Amino acid sequence: MKKDDIITVRIEDFSSEGLGVGYMENTPGLSFADADSKTANTAAGRGPVLFVKDTIIGDVAEVKVMKMKKTYGYARLLRIITPSPDRIEAACPVARACGGCQIQEMKYEAQLRFKEQKVLANLQRIGGFADPPMEPIIGMSYPFRYRNKAQYPIDRDKNGRLIAGFYAGRTHTVIDCRDCLLGAKVNKTILDIVLNHMETYEIEPYDETTGKGLVRHVMIRVGKENASPGQIMVCIVINGSSLPESGRLVKALRAIPGMTCITLNINRERTNVIMGRQLKLLWGKEYIEDTIGNIRFCISPLSFYQVNPLQTEKLYAKALEYAELTGRETVWDLYCGIGTISLFLAQKARAVYGVEIIPDAIRDARRNAERNGITNAEFFAGKAEEVLPEKYEKDGICADVIVVDPPRRGCDMSVLNTMLKIAPKRIVYVSCDSATLARDLNYLCAGGYELKKVCPTEMFANSVHVETVCLLHKPF
Ligand code: SAH
Repeated sequence: MKKDDIITVRIEDFSSEGLGVGYMENTPGLSFADADSKTANTAAGRGPVLFVKDTIIGDVAEVKVMKMKKTYGYARLLRIITPSPDRIEAACPVARACGGCQIQEMKYEAQLRFKEQKVLANLQRIGGFADPPMEPIIGMSYPFRYRNKAQYPIDRDKNGRLIAGFYAGRTHTVIDCRDCLLGAKVNKTILDIVLNHMETYEIEPYDETTGKGLVRHVMIRVGKENASPGQIMVCIVINGSSLPESGRLVKALRAIPGMTCITLNINRERTNVIMGRQLKLLWGKEYIEDTIGNIRFCISPLSFYQVNPLQTEKLYAKALEYAELTGRETVWDLYCGIGTISLFLAQKARAVYGVEIIPDAIRDARRNAERNGITNAEFFAGKAEEVLPEKYEKDGICADVIVVDPPRRGCDMSVLNTMLKIAPKRIVYVSCDSATLARDLNYLCAGGYELKKVCPTEMFANSVHVETVCLLHKPF
């Protein structure tokens, strides 16, 4: 197989980035039904793996090979020969071009089955668990309009018109889309106002290639509407120290019901990282408030906060169920963000200790504890891999339950090793990447723990990502 070849492939999986993973049809040696994993396929001589954008599992498609490496390649979809039984028309007009929704063209039920399979396959292949104790995935009833946060890059199109949208997959080309169907409807109103302001006062968007221009991104966060209307935060990320005529912009934005916090974020670095460290409040409060369950949270622009509030409640309820708290336990919540899980658990535990690397998030966490009258939660700013070992070596801390909710790269070795030394009765592992989850679970189980339950949870409908909660018991 070489560049420019036109071939027929059958799509059998998705890559971690959401590209269809296919094999050439009619490759001798093995029928598709025989092969149940990528490794088996390649090993069995089915030829190279091809990654094809815009295809979904079950499609048979004609594709053109664009780039070929030794064992894999990339191909462009020419036409679908036989559509997957799970194929549907995307609800969003830019679903294909935009890198956000990789699998919008797949029936939602099938998306859920795929995610369950993905978690299972990673636990088996990477984790070495022959028969993981899976619970059914917690899905959504309506897989749109769920995101409470959006970060829109600002650019100009070919005709010089200002646009706001999302990056196309694998590139930094901005796809014009002010009303993302995953996000809140008010996002479009806000973007219209910001872009109009830029137009009026001739404010240039930031240009990544030259490092010139002012406005980089508009970040919007919206609280749940049960506090009708939900509180709104607008944060304009700029490559400079001020925004021309910002008073007029504030005036226009303030008219939107729910507007609570308008800030500038200063980012002068030539980097892909969206937000800089420095914030300048233009108007209102420095944070918005939102409720999860019976707890009210303050959220600053730089703090992490789960993006799918409906599902977050279900996720935390599962974590709480797995923690099996009676009111007597000491609990550590590592990678705690603004203390969301910690404060949930604190209501049922003796004491909870949270650790988080972002100082602003820890400030939010302390404020959240205080405002909710929770006095048995304490928070430490620092790296989990430094704070936990230090607390263990110096203070000989103990824990009945440890909850971890790390970023995609998973837990640091020193976190895993210290957890094994502390030896809590239960570990609840919340993960947004089932591959690193499987790796870490394998290590913890080699250290004596038993994997008791696994529950995939939908947090990112229409994307290939899946959240998972796991329970580990100490059998001794
Ligand atoms: N449990 C929280 C946050 C989970 S996201 C919630 O449900 O909202 C992961 C968090 O880990 C982020 O807040 C991130 O800032 C933090 N983080 C990343 N690396 C870290 C590290 N090395 N030590 C501690 N926290 C870290």
